[in-house]
Amino acid sequence: MQPTKISPATLGKLAKLGIHHRADLLLHLPLRYEDETHLAPISTVQPGMNAQVQGIIAHSEVVFRPRRTLVCRLQDNGGELYLRFLNFYPSQQKQLAEGKQIRAVGEVRMGYYGLEMVHPKCRAVDDDTPLQQSLTPIYPTTAGLSQIVLRKLIANALETLPLPDTLPEILLQRLKLAGFADSVRLLHNPAPDTAAVTLENRSHAAWRRIKFDELLAQQLSMRAHHRERGKRIAPELALRHRLTARLIKNLPFALTNAQQKVHAEIGRDLAKPHPMQRLLLGDVGSGKTIVAALAALQAIENGYQAAFMAPTEILAEQHYLKLRDWLEPLGITPVWLSGSLKKKEKQLAAEHISSGETLLAIGTHALFQEKISFRKLGLAIVDEQHKFGVQQRLALRNKGKSSKSVRPEPVEGQDVSEDMVRQAHHERPVDSNEPHQLMMSATPIPRTLAMSYYADLDVSVIDKLPPGRTPVITKLVSDERRDEVFARVRAACLDGQQAYWVCPLIDESEVLQLQTAIETYETLRATFPELNVGLVHGKLDNAEKARVMAAFKANELQLLVATTVIEVGVDVPNASLMVIDHAERMGLAQLHQLRGRVGRGAGQSMCILLYQQPLSELARARLKIIFESNDGFAIAQQDLQLRGPGELLGARQSGVAMLRFADISADEDLLNQARQAADELLRDFPDAARGHLQRWMANKHDYLHA
Ligand code: ADP
Ligand code: MG
Repeated sequence: MQPTKISPATLGKLAKLGIHHRADLLLHLPLRYEDETHLAPISTVQPGMNAQVQGIIAHSEVVFRPRRTLVCRLQDNGGELYLRFLNFYPSQQKQLAEGKQIRAVGEVRMGYYGLEMVHPKCRAVDDDTPLQQSLTPIYPTTAGLSQIVLRKLIANALETLPLPDTLPEILLQRLKLAGFADSVRLLHNPAPDTAAVTLENRSHAAWRRIKFDELLAQQLSMRAHHRERGKRIAPELALRHRLTARLIKNLPFALTNAQQKVHAEIGRDLAKPHPMQRLLLGDVGSGKTIVAALAALQAIENGYQAAFMAPTEILAEQHYLKLRDWLEPLGITPVWLSGSLKKKEKQLAAEHISSGETLLAIGTHALFQEKISFRKLGLAIVDEQHKFGVQQRLALRNKGKSSKSVRPEPVEGQDVSEDMVRQAHHERPVDSNEPHQLMMSATPIPRTLAMSYYADLDVSVIDKLPPGRTPVITKLVSDERRDEVFARVRAACLDGQQAYWVCPLIDESEVLQLQTAIETYETLRATFPELNVGLVHGKLDNAEKARVMAAFKANELQLLVATTVIEVGVDVPNASLMVIDHAERMGLAQLHQLRGRVGRGAGQSMCILLYQQPLSELARARLKIIFESNDGFAIAQQDLQLRGPGELLGARQSGVAMLRFADISADEDLLNQARQAADELLRDFPDAARGHLQRWMANKHDYLHA
């Protein structure tokens, strides 16, 4: 058999499906199957069944009520059912004329006339027209590319391409995995006796093999990144104990064991001559900031600069104030840099950074604009890393290079895979330093997700909150009881506590969102004449934002009306009550982050989730989860099940593409096996590893994690 020639038009459509090579056709696997391998006697079919039946058209008629419809009565020896077509062509009407012998495939339901199929797949047959020999695969496709064309192309690829197994026999046997060729063939053409359920839920051995292969490829590619990083050069920042010890001694609290553990992990990495890329995970309020400060200090003690970047002005400024308090007694004065600074101030800050006079720069992404050049950047810290795009993190990495080496800047708005950039810069002189990177996130990433999508990063986890915190009490309150909530807010604030009121999220329109925030503020001001009420939202100018936050921190404001700008990182320990208006509109991660703004002091805190009825099923599920759990990781795990990894990682993680076949929450066992197998292959079968990556990753930067 010869490989089929494919027309340019079809090639374009295939490309839309991610099929660029003929070999990609092999891994374009069915979504589901239809069973046309046997005929069901009409007397045996029941509503809800998918069935193939055959018979003679006993009657065919176009009815006009309620709509123009072609109705045919199909009879076999023992029974009859109706075929109904709402939109039909004259040719169809002819095909389905009285007396014709027809084979129809479709879902049976109970209709007006009795059992019926609506828009079944029909064809004219003779007595001896053969049945399909295997289940009929239904492939994911795109407009203008029919199942029949796809099926033919795939069948041709199966005939003409070799299907070698990339995995060594010994591994297949130990893991009891099916062969690759058998699995691929079976999934494209399952025999009629294949258990349909196991194909459908993808638990069939053939599916397991494919999913294993996919996960293995992902692991291998991540390891490759990891190893490649080990070849790059970064400054060795030894752990010196002078300033560090003083900082720790001056703190009003003792570091928790969890903090000490991650501090040590980071410290060891920084001392190595290769760039650290470590993700510090810790639930909201777990105390990541001090760990970041200690890391910065380690760079500074070695004569290098550190940069600390946060995604919002509010958060960045809060870090700045906190680190200034901690470090000034040690003789280190951080510099503040944000987009809102006056031009002159910005320039001054930039000069201090490029002269090296400033050892610690804290700010928003303004820190990593082109104009800012560091003299000797040793460590870049990124808080709430998931809020940043790939490009910003790439830009940051390049700040370590002192020379003005030429490199193309990534084009704004375009997806850049780190690998492409990396390849473009292989000419980089080996002695040029790259800063270490510490990324922090309070979006707890479920273990399985971390293992698969972050496998090229090292991960440290702060798994315990500092002592003395009382868990936040969460209450679900229907909007009808708003007055009771008002009363509670008043009582708390008059009692010397402080409260947040989080405004409803309005996805469709920023203008509406702002308007709602202002209206809420006006209403609450009128409701609480005895309280000082403040308002903070994203459109406020930065000086104003800072002023409001400072006033809230100083307890000059008792009630802060806020949009979700306070979602990340804001730390006001005296605030013990939070009301989230229209909580049903928010995602789980967001709700958890918001709730984390209270419960930071020693007293009892409360989070009231105000919701509006009726609740959608998803909203109900979310509110139930957030009500029942305070544990960020447990919540994230549930979120993963509700939404799938794509949304959890966020659209901004443009370097991350989804697994096509494996489902990391359902296939955790395979993921674990793939992790071990990846180590084993790289150690004992490097050629197999290469071949495997070639099959799954050729031309795919999808899995790359920047
Ligand atoms: P997050 O991990 O959410 O960024 P922060 O670093 O903002 O948390 O810390 C939350 C609060 O806990 C801060 O007020 C911080 O000063 C305090 N904190 C941090 N570590 C400890 C500790 N070991 N003991 C007591 N309080 C701590
Ligand atoms: Mg934080």
